[in-house]
Parts: sequence; structure tokens; C-alpha cells
Amino acid sequence: MTVLTGAPLLPTYARFPVTFVDGEGSWLIDEDGKRYLDLIAGIAVVSLGHKHPAPLAAAKEQLDRLWHVSNLYSTLPMEHLAVRLSERFGGAHAFFCNSGTEAVEAALKWARKSTGKTGYVALEGSFHGRTMGALSITGQPGKQKPFLPLVPGVSFTTPDRLADAVNADTAAIILEPIQGEGGVHPLGREVLETARALADEFEAMLIFDEVQTGIGRTGAFYAWQNSGVKPDAITLAKGLANGLPIGALLVSDDSPTGFVPGDHASTFGGNPVSCAAANAVVDTIDDDLLTHVREIGALFQNELPNVRGRGLLLAVELGRPAGPVAHELLAKGLLVGTAGDTALRLTPSLTISHDEAQQAIAILREVLA
Ligand SMILES: *Cc1c(COP(=O)(O)O)cnc(C)c1O
Repeated sequence: MTVLTGAPLLPTYARFPVTFVDGEGSWLIDEDGKRYLDLIAGIAVVSLGHKHPAPLAAAKEQLDRLWHVSNLYSTLPMEHLAVRLSERFGGAHAFFCNSGTEAVEAALKWARKSTGKTGYVALEGSFHGRTMGALSITGQPGKQKPFLPLVPGVSFTTPDRLADAVNADTAAIILEPIQGEGGVHPLGREVLETARALADEFEAMLIFDEVQTGIGRTGAFYAWQNSGVKPDAITLAKGLANGLPIGALLVSDDSPTGFVPGDHASTFGGNPVSCAAANAVVDTIDDDLLTHVREIGALFQNELPNVRGRGLLLAVELGRPAGPVAHELLAKGLLVGTAGDTALRLTPSLTISHDEAQQAIAILREVLA
């Protein structure tokens, strides 16, 4: 694949041949004025839809007030966001950064610091990010191989063989409650319960990577709340600020604080504009919106064949390469992602209307028939 726009960008992406210039709600508009129904939402990022008034107003107000002071000082949007995320968690402390992979890096360092141990247990097929630490616990050999050697001490296992991988050297067990990028594979409650029990037995930290599943995506505010299995820490990013860069590590108040001043840092972390937008996002994701997420998720599951996932983190298994189908859907004005090689990934904004979901289902049925 070549870079299609001709702009001098390193070729790390095989981009679709379209350039977007505007968006509103679940719709995107390209250079020629063509409208597309957006079932990707920036890969589960634009959680309330494009130009949602609440984060838009909050970010604009903060842009006019204060952009950056560094973490040498406090700012109100960051403090308020920590309080909100902690309340939703049931008591937690936050570290803010700028992306999912950075949140995972923070989690990896925190687990070593908290336990004095070095080992990590992660799952085959997982995805935790692209920086060296996060890549080290990403269970996809193809993504790792060109960049070896990575961080040592990582054991990959399968959900049913967790017990064979965890031992006294394990600092952390790291899981996505629903594997997202790897194909949208939900972990069963028993697997999460086993992970919790093993972490307790071996005094390891249980970390859920909720970069994709968090902030309402699965129909609960945090995906761990679906199972009731409470982790020691979670990572957040994608949907938190409706498209502005942000990431967070949340450490449960029941677990060690781990870090002391100087252990970890992020120049841009807790940016006031991103945090202001995030506060508006968190306030908008109330019980009504979470019910809506579950209802629209059920609609997709009922109206389309071979759908898996939870809430609005869904995959449609095709049994054939998904890439060409995504291109065909693009031509028909529908944006979808892919998950693994043979599935479409649907991560619409949480605010997608019943009508819009029906329109998307009609196009999907036509193309998949
Ligand atoms: C997207 C994702 C990441 C990486 O986030 P970036 O912001 O791209 O660094 C990490 N973990 C999970 C579960 C993700 O879905």
C-alpha cells in the first residue's frame, strides 16, 4: 500500500483513500461534501459523536482560559477529572498521560514498583500498544518480531492456562476484559475470577487494560463492572476526552500507591483542555446513556449474523478477509473498522441514534448478503 495523499508522511498506515474535513454526531463529511455514517468513531475515541456540545463547550472555555502549566503545579480540570474517575471506580488515584500506550507504560512501571517483582503475564492475541514496554506485553508475534529484543520477563498464555503462567515472580497479570484490536473476544467471568484469585495468591497486581473498553463503551462505565471482578488498576484512554489526546492509569485505593515523586512523569499529562473535555464526557455518560449503549448493541446483535462483543464494542465475523469489505462499505458511505483478519469492528459513538443504527444495518446487510 502506498501513501495516497502524497503528503510526506512515514508509511506506518495503509490509509483509506478519503480525506475528512468536517463531522457532526455520527456523520463525517469528506472534501467533496459526501456524507458517511461513522461506525468507527475514531476507533472508539469520539465516544459522544463529532462536535458533541458538552465537551466542545468545555474545551472551548478552557482554551480561552489556560492551556498548560506542567505537572509542577495543579490545575482544576485535572483535579476534577481525578475525582470523577475515582468516584465511578469506587475509590482510586489517577496518573494522567496522553495515550493508551503511555497509560500501559505507567501501569507496567507501577506494578514493578509496587511489588518489587519483574514478571508480567499477558494473553496471546492481546493488544496493549506500540511503545517498547506495551509492545512487550502485546501477544502478537508479528507486531513484536521486527523490534526484538523487548522488555524481558513476559509470559504469554491463554485464558484457560493462566494458572500455569502466574508464579511468585509475577508483578502483574494484564488483561483486556474484551480483547479489542485482536478481534473483539470477551473474556468469560470465570477467567477474570481466576485471574483475580491468582493475583491474590501470588501477591501480583491485576491490571485491566480498559483503553478501549472503558468510559461506557461496553454499556457499563468501566468494563470490569460488567463482571464485578475488581482489578487493582486500570488503564484508560480512547473514549475519555471525545477525541482530544489523553490517557490515564487508575490505581484502586485498595491497592498499593506504588509511586513516589520522581518515579514517573509526563510533560503534557493532565493537559487542562483535554481534562476539561473529559470531565464533560464523564458527566454525559449517565445511566440513560449506558442503557442506550446496551440497547443499540443488542439491536446490532439481533439484526446482523455472527456478531460478538458487548455494548458498542462489536465484531461481525465474516469468515473471509475483512479489508476489501471495509472498502466496499466505504464506497457506500459507511465507515467500519476491522478486527483481526476476518472480522469487521463496529465501535460507533455511544450516542448513535436508533435510526442511524438501522441505516447502518441496512447497508451492512446489503454488502454482506
Ligand atoms: C488502542 C489501545 C491501546 C493503545 O492506545 P494508543 O492511544 O494508540 O497508544 C492500548 N490498549 C488497548 C486495549 C487499546 O485498544
